[in-house]
Amino acid sequence: MSSENGATINAVRFHGQRDIRLDRIPAPPAGVKPGWVKLAPKFCGICGTDLHEYLGGANLIPTPGHPHPLTGETLPLTIGHEFSGVIEEVGDGVTHVQPGDKVCVQPTLWDDDCRSCKRGMVNCCDSNGFLGLSGWGGGMQETTLAPATAVKKLPDSISLEVGALIEPLAVGWHAVDISPFKDGDSALVLGGGPIGLSVIQALVSRGCTNIIVSEVATRRRDFAKQFGAHHVIDPTSSDVVATVESLTGGLGADVGYDCAGVQVAVDSALKSIKARGTLVNVAVWEKKASLNMNDMVFRERAYMGVATYYLGDFEAVIDAIESGRMKPEGMITKKVAMDKVAEEGFKTLIEDKDNHVKILVDLTQPVA
Ligand SMILES: [Zn+2]
Repeated sequence: MSSENGATINAVRFHGQRDIRLDRIPAPPAGVKPGWVKLAPKFCGICGTDLHEYLGGANLIPTPGHPHPLTGETLPLTIGHEFSGVIEEVGDGVTHVQPGDKVCVQPTLWDDDCRSCKRGMVNCCDSNGFLGLSGWGGGMQETTLAPATAVKKLPDSISLEVGALIEPLAVGWHAVDISPFKDGDSALVLGGGPIGLSVIQALVSRGCTNIIVSEVATRRRDFAKQFGAHHVIDPTSSDVVATVESLTGGLGADVGYDCAGVQVAVDSALKSIKARGTLVNVAVWEKKASLNMNDMVFRERAYMGVATYYLGDFEAVIDAIESGRMKPEGMITKKVAMDKVAEEGFKTLIEDKDNHVKILVDLTQPVA
């Protein structure tokens, strides 16, 4: 990045494990390339992925000597991939947004050339990356550039705060969308964190009338109920398999969504799904898990993975919010200024995660 006039902007950048700094970096240069836009991010969620980078990274963030294949960048780089903002400038050929428009950002990057992209499955790209994790700026800098296809116009009725929730909501939406869930099905959701809550809201939006959530933290069970779960189970004090059986007329759940990514949850979930039911893995795992294959063999159960979201999922979530089928505002539990991201954002989520769903970085707040 360079700037002819030497202007600088604030950016929250990842330098290494437990090392996030508010830096001054050169402002993006004047003039935007054809097919690109310049926008001013306004709100940006802190994601579980960001926390994993902070606590145990760099994992996804490219390190010196190993630049990301699409951006060519390595750390230090700007973080934040769940963001909304206002368009400042558009390049030639960009017609779906104009300066002044409120937008949210689909941050995924793909190469359009690999075996998955050639089949249209860009979310499974061999070179996949994210704005805000792989380079090309991100949601925690005052001005950033993005491919025009990444920005989605927000209707007037959706605030910029809620716009920053659309990325995590799209993850849950996509999981339900490509799962075998159909009208009348029951659903078991493992984990009541931000992604579990996104899955719950996607299920509610599709009219699911039997959503059962298993979650160890009391506050998170309350959040699950607030967003539409019909039954919540504390797996530390209740038998998950027996409870799900009794809540599904003795059949077992039709579909399960693992948003927890822990061994004990998968073990009970597989047994809680009906014969020929499917357990959908949405969680990103920190280590290898084991599956009891005979739980699948003798009940003809299926296990499938889902990754991020697909083209059209952001638009579907925007439509669900605009029409009132999804009301995600309550997911925002705190807003912090750019100079408080490490202290009041990351540390709060690490030390007090059960009381928070989404902490947003508020780029409209002045920096001390
Ligand atoms: Zn690809």
